[in-house]
Amino acid sequence: MSDRTLWLVKDSDKVINWCKCSEPVAGRFPQAGCPWCGCGWLLSCAFCRKCFTFGRFDWFDESVESLARRLATAEWGPQVDDEDVAEMAEFMTWAAEGFAAGDRVVVIDYQLFRVDEEGPFEFDGAYAHHTLDALPQVRELTEPGTLDASLGSKEYWLERALPGE
Ligand SMILES: [Zn+2]
Ligand SMILES: [Zn+2]
Repeated sequence: MSDRTLWLVKDSDKVINWCKCSEPVAGRFPQAGCPWCGCGWLLSCAFCRKCFTFGRFDWFDESVESLARRLATAEWGPQVDDEDVAEMAEFMTWAAEGFAAGDRVVVIDYQLFRVDEEGPFEFDGAYAHHTLDALPQVRELTEPGTLDASLGSKEYWLERALPGE
């Protein structure tokens, strides 16, 4: 059992950031049935549950179970049980797979992408099928307004929804 865990912290306050915590750490992806509202393309802080745009993988000096217990307790309160912690640990292990410390990422439709990854991006997310030349959160840095017109638009998601959504 490793006593180091790779997990996501907030990387910057750029684009959208509502979290003011001094040590912000991502919790579970906040995506619900309304991904256009931001829950489908923002990360959320486990401690205050507020959203931010850019995350970064970092090492924590504790086991995944220990960190998962801290984050699950922060998110859901002291009533978390071993099953909640195991689920959180499983989610974290799945989400961190293939990433390294220092990788800067954004989430789109329940998938993480490195901000320096070259497009185009074509994939099925949890809700929709996406074909993107660039990551909209990254593009927003130099072309403000483009994020609202793509991932922030309800039509964008409805037009691309997977069968069953
Ligand atoms: Zn939403
Ligand atoms: Zn926070």
